[in-house]
Amino acid sequence: MSEKKPTPGVAKQMGKVCPVCGAKTYSHGGIHPQCAVQQADSARAEELKAARKSESNAPKPSSWTKKKCPKCGAEPHVRRKVCDCGHVFF
Ligand SMILES: [Zn+2]
Ligand SMILES: [Zn+2]
Repeated sequence: MSEKKPTPGVAKQMGKVCPVCGAKTYSHGGIHPQCAVQQADSARAEELKAARKSESNAPKPSSWTKKKCPKCGAEPHVRRKVCDCGHVFF
């Protein structure tokens, strides 16, 4: 009947918007190569973060200023090299 309406969106599809920086990109993957690298880096950073988090969740010695003597179970100060029982720390 009447003339066809121009389909909105077609023009948009001509230039894709980079999901990283939000600017138009004509790159094949719809993302700037440098932004793709950035995205990969941030993904790796997230992984590193998660790894560090799980590391910090690992049980720590109750006190790093003290160490336990395997011989008598006493906890002399970490700077002491010889326990009261005679056990020598390395
Ligand atoms: Zn981009
Ligand atoms: Zn001891």
